[in-house]
Amino acid sequence: MSDCIFCKIGSKEIQAMLVHDEDDLAAFRDINPQAPVHVLIIPKKHIASMNDLEPGDMGLFAKMVAAAKRIAKQEKISASGYRLVLNTGAHGGQSVGHIHLHMLGGRQLGWPPG
Ligand code: 5GP
Ligand code: ZN
Repeated sequence: MSDCIFCKIGSKEIQAMLVHDEDDLAAFRDINPQAPVHVLIIPKKHIASMNDLEPGDMGLFAKMVAAAKRIAKQEKISASGYRLVLNTGAHGGQSVGHIHLHMLGGRQLGWPPG
């Protein structure tokens, strides 16, 4: 998608603080962090939201989850704990139309979310 900000981060057309980069996915620090560790994990392929995940994307999605586990270790929050969030659509609070997994950690998080 030519005007998608996360596609542009994935292709490095736009800079971000990358914490992980591989062929088909990338992870970078959120520009407006909500916790000491706030990383976004994205597929480089444009998938608009959870609703647009096709059966053929499940391997890619599994890679995002596997990357999250590795990044948690890298960020030293594996033991203290963290949260993975996948906001979807208006009620889910999704503001960028390219699927992304939030990883939040480094402080005690509240529950339930607002
Ligand atoms: P959503 O609200 O869609 O679940 O999350 C989008 C996230 O992307 C927000 O937390 C927002 O701060 C982050 N974000 C939006 N634009 C940029 C950007 O250009 N760079 C980075 N690093 N994060 C962004
Ligand atoms: Zn995109």
